[in-house]
Amino acid sequence: MQRVGLLGLGIMGAGMASNWLAKGFEVAVWNRTSAKAQALGAKGAKVAATPREAAAGADFVFAMVADDAASRSVWLGAEGALAGAKPGAILVESSTLTPGWVRELGGQAGAKGCGFLDAPVGGSRQAAESGALRFFVGGEPATFQAARPALQAVGSRMDLLGPVGAGATWKLINNQLAATQVAALAEALEVAKKAGFKKEQISELILGGAPASPIVKTKLPRMLEHDFEPADFAVHLMLKDARYATALAEALGAPADMVSGAVKAFARAEARGLGAKDIAAVAG
Ligand code: NAP
Repeated sequence: MQRVGLLGLGIMGAGMASNWLAKGFEVAVWNRTSAKAQALGAKGAKVAATPREAAAGADFVFAMVADDAASRSVWLGAEGALAGAKPGAILVESSTLTPGWVRELGGQAGAKGCGFLDAPVGGSRQAAESGALRFFVGGEPATFQAARPALQAVGSRMDLLGPVGAGATWKLINNQLAATQVAALAEALEVAKKAGFKKEQISELILGGAPASPIVKTKLPRMLEHDFEPADFAVHLMLKDARYATALAEALGAPADMVSGAVKAFARAEARGLGAKDIAAVAG
């Protein structure tokens, strides 16, 4: 039986852990707030006291935490997972992070004799719960092949996009678009309401029109109903992604006007106390 160690049991990590358990993997979990690990313990996961303990003996160690700082601490902290990972284990960073940080982490994993992939995901709470995530992967082809059983147990599609850093890079491009669309939808909605259009009209006109992208379709009903809880994807995480995406664009000398605008919109929502609410609350 293959063993997975997982660091981070938020919305996404909790769904992934349940799927590995359901598919017959032996799973050890760690979460900063330990109470969140109890539900997975009841389903058969081993609850580890530290990231290092969760990684010990695992064939695959995944992290699904908030941001670069969280990732650095769970992998490289005093009781971090890298210290516990066995040589030959494959370490997979699935959080949405900066390419610079995942390249640094990949170097440290290699020095320890471990394989490494950056494999952030597309899909939200529902995809995590149903094992239908899409992985954007960076790394060596042989490492990708070896990690397939673990990826396939929680995902429905996985693409190797290039060397380490390529997955993180694409994920930020993906969320550059997602953040921009959701922020633009919130603005358009405000104009439509102020111009006197009714909810039903707005819904029918937007959903029946060319701008109705999948994320617009998902978030419009929540915006119209002010249905911001529970979050599927929190405002503060989208703000982080939009900031990382802006920095990526600027580092590459590409324009970042739209995504910078999205940063402003999500930062305003956070300043209004909506950081933990669903990204639909950018229209709150
Ligand atoms: P979440 O529910 O807010 O969970 C965040 C996780 O990170 C929790 O386990 C949290 O621990 C942990 N964490 C935060 N700061 C930490 C720190 N300093 N040290 C250790 N652990 C820390 O977030 P999520 O929605 O699952 O997202 C996880 C990652 O996936 C993020 O990078 C996000 O951008 C990305 N993502 C999310 C979605 C989505 O739709 N939700 C989709 C694709 C990608 P505590 O429980 O102790 O707070």
